[in-house]
Order: sequence, then structure tokens, then C-alpha cells
Amino acid sequence: MTVTAEKKITVQKYGGTSVGSIERIKNVADKIILTYQTSKRVVAVVSAMGDTTDTLVGLAKGITSKPSPREYDALLSTGENVSASLLAMCLIEKGYEAISLTGYQAGITTEVLHSRAKILNIKTGRIMQELEKDRIVIITGFQGINNNGDVTTIGRGGSDTSAVAVAAALKAGECEIYTDVDGIYTTDPRKVADAKKLNEISYDEMLELASLGAKVLHPRAVECGKENQVVLHVRSSFNNEEGTRVKESSEMEINKPVTGVTLNEDEAIISLIGVPDKPGSVGYIFNTLAKEGVNVDMIIQNVEQNDSNNVSFSVHRDDLTLASSISQKIADSIGCSQVITDDSVAKISAVGVGMISKPGIAAQMFEALGKENINIKRITTSEIKISCAIDRKEAKKALAILHKEFELHV
Ligand code: ASP
Ligand code: MG
Repeated sequence: MTVTAEKKITVQKYGGTSVGSIERIKNVADKIILTYQTSKRVVAVVSAMGDTTDTLVGLAKGITSKPSPREYDALLSTGENVSASLLAMCLIEKGYEAISLTGYQAGITTEVLHSRAKILNIKTGRIMQELEKDRIVIITGFQGINNNGDVTTIGRGGSDTSAVAVAAALKAGECEIYTDVDGIYTTDPRKVADAKKLNEISYDEMLELASLGAKVLHPRAVECGKENQVVLHVRSSFNNEEGTRVKESSEMEINKPVTGVTLNEDEAIISLIGVPDKPGSVGYIFNTLAKEGVNVDMIIQNVEQNDSNNVSFSVHRDDLTLASSISQKIADSIGCSQVITDDSVAKISAVGVGMISKPGIAAQMFEALGKENINIKRITTSEIKISCAIDRKEAKKALAILHKEFELHV
């Protein structure tokens, strides 16, 4: 056996569902033990049990709608302390040496900012010391310590990011993310029956498929993996199957132009008609919306006619009322003729790094929809993604059409 093989560290992450009950924690302990028996050096990062974090948020709301950010993080971070210590206890009970470390004890330093602090660095001294003693190390996800010595949290769903950052700091090369699904699929298997599990997907595609994958992977974890060249292996904690590896696309054999298709049924479109064709108009519109906290997507400005433009954009349906009232004020102040809202849209997207080198993919997508009489209301594209806004009533049918058109079922 070579020294390097012996020294290899396995980093695993177990999500809230995977550690959702004592029974499940015991199951996770068994999985860790299996890994430990071959690799000897195992670090597991855990989320809080089940809905614990939501429950903690609810408790805070019972006191105040504006909790002190420091105390809010002090509260929210406790969920992970519970699961980490229970898991370590469980491993000890099964006869293995294990230790739980909080973000602070594990050397995870973050920005000062609370609630969504970024991880700045991880001093791995303590983790390494414990590994040298042949102990299994359990680390709380989602939390760290800032320069004021206060506990911070890194944003909801952030345990994935904690795990990838730990894997990067320990130079593990790969981070196994155990979750309640088998991996990343070509589309949502609840919407298209023949959706297929992907063996691999690139970081960039994964980020573009965020609407599909966000429930599975925290986007910042994907970014962190990309920056530090850590492969993310998303797999189920309920079986031993290989899942999906998220990695750099250059390492992959690209055989299809489209890797996945995704649907977002929560969009609404706002159009400003007759925006004066002057420098600064569009900047003013989107700056005003941003200041009010409205997130926009699918921005389109058409060809100038009679010294004015039509500008449209999509927002989350929940933000439509707010965004349309802000838009009305904008329209009044810069002199647009009309504001039109459309709450009947869905956004369907095809994503794939393969489309960079293969022309005609957009045309193929539009034709496939046209043949089935599905009208396209808006189109936006990026290098690896084509999105169309269509009628929400036809969204599921359109998803199935594109899934088949791009041969994702085979
Ligand atoms: N427990 C935290 C949350 O629910 C972090 C995580 O699960 O990733 O957001
Ligand atoms: Mg999660």
C-alpha cells in the first residue's frame, strides 16, 4: 500500500433527511463505519435533523420579527450541534472512536456578517490531529466563527458548502454528498417519468440547472467545488448506488448537446411599454427594482421604435404584486405609456455545455415546441442555456417534448 493511498481523506456530507431521526442517524453511522474500515480517515459534515432549523426560525419569530443577527445565528446554529454530537455518540456506542467538532472547533472562519456569512478559511490543525488519532471526525455544517469570536451561519442549505469547503481544505479531491435522492436527473422525475439519472454533470451546467438542483445542492457548494477543483458526488444515503458526479466538463466525454431540461412554474412577466430611448432609462428601472429587493430574470429590450423601447422582465410570482406596483411608479416617473403584467407563464430551459460546439440547438428547441402548437412568449439564451417563456398550462407537456427531442430518455 502506498503512503498516499493510506493518507487519503474521505469527506462526506449528510443532509437533514439523512439524519432526520435516531434510526437514520444509526444508519448514517453504519455507512461511515463501512468507509472507515477501508479508508481510516473519514470526516463527515452534518446538517440539522429534519426540519430543526425551520423550527428554530419559528421560535425566534415567536419573540420578534427582527431578531438580533448575532442571537439569530447563535440559535440557528444549534441544530447542527445536536445532530453532530448524536452521530458521534452513536459511533462511539458502536465501538468506534469519534469526535464531534463545531464550526469553531473545526477552524472554520467566516466573514463577520451574520446569517449568510461566506467561509473565509479553514485551519485544519484540529481536524488533522483527531484524524491522526484514528478518530472519525464529525463536523457541524452551516456554521463558523467570525473575527469577533461570534458564531455565524452561512445561509440556509449551507451545509453542502461547509462540506465542500472542508474537502477543499483537506485536499480530499471529492466530497460525497448523501441526500434523499439518487443523484441529479435529466429533468424532474416527478414531472417526466423517463427522466434519467446522470453519471456526470459539469459545474457550469449544475449552476444553470439551479432551479432543478437547488433542492439537491446549494449553488455556493457548486461554486466552491469549481473554484477548488473538488468533485461533488451526489448520492442517496438510503442505498449504495453510485450517484452523480459534478465536475469540470473538460474531463468528460460530451456526447449530447443538451444535458438536462428544467421547468420553472413560478415566473410572471412584467412589460414596460414605451420606455424613453435615453441613456440611463433601463439602469433606473432595474436599480429601482433592486433597491426594493426584487429579483429579476429574463430581461428583454426590443428594437427601438419612435424613440422608445419596450422592456420586459420576469419575476417570481410571489413578487408580482410588489414588482408591478414599483413598475407603475417607475413608468409614471420616466414617462412610459403602459405597464402590462402576465401571470400565466412558465419558463422552460435546455442546458448543456455541448451546445457551445453544436449550432442549431435553439432552432431545434423552438421547432419542437412549435410542432406541438406551443407558443413561445419570450426567449433568452446564455452560452449553455436556452430558455423560453410559455403558457403555464402547457409547461409539463413542453418539458416532456423537449426531454424526448434531446434524447435525454436514452
Ligand atoms: N440546517 C441548515 C438549513 O436547514 C443548513 C442545511 O441543512 O444545509 O438550512
Ligand atoms: Mg440541504
